[in-house]
Amino acid sequence: MSLGHIKHWIFDLDNTLYSGDANFFAQIDKKITAYIADFLSLPPAQARRIQKQYLFDYGTSLTGLMDKHGIDPDDFLYHAHDVDLSPLIPNPDLRNVLAALPGQKFIFTNGSRQHAKNVGEHLKIYDLFDQVFAIEDADYIAKPQRLPYELMVKKFNIDPACAFMAEDTARNLEIPKQMGMATLLVGEDTDVPPYIDHVTNDLTAWLGEKPHEH
Ligand SMILES: [Mg+2]
Repeated sequence: MSLGHIKHWIFDLDNTLYSGDANFFAQIDKKITAYIADFLSLPPAQARRIQKQYLFDYGTSLTGLMDKHGIDPDDFLYHAHDVDLSPLIPNPDLRNVLAALPGQKFIFTNGSRQHAKNVGEHLKIYDLFDQVFAIEDADYIAKPQRLPYELMVKKFNIDPACAFMAEDTARNLEIPKQMGMATLLVGEDTDVPPYIDHVTNDLTAWLGEKPHEH
């Protein structure tokens, strides 16, 4: 599929705009486990099971914790994203290829607005993005639920037929494909679902190969 028609470039943040190899997200994962263990007075192993079950059922652990246990999302997000950014190394090549994309660029994250800003600024790419759509913007309803995608395209006047979305979580690309977007999975090229148009394990290299030629 040619990407010459793309005017809106939408990127997930965590493990998409930086490599999963950085092991940065593991810190957030552990903070969430500790938060749940503390909040529900559970041993870590049990807290972790609940964390992963809600992640599967709701798209984020946060949404499940709000639905089932009425937790305060702002307190949760503050603690979950209170992490050391130093494992993330800014990549000037990523900055260059993002800057070269024709059209508008967006971050669309299941994390908080503050997290997107912290990570984006640390990676020295935040200024390249026109808008951010974060978990607060759809009242804490997360990808892959349909609602945040619909609210995002409406809020930013995005025509899905001229949009592209990149994600490291394959299932988060099913709704975008249904809406008419081109989809890129940042990950391994195995067991790729049919709603994925392109796969790469190196976003910078892939974008650098002039996406309209793919
Ligand atoms: Mg991600």
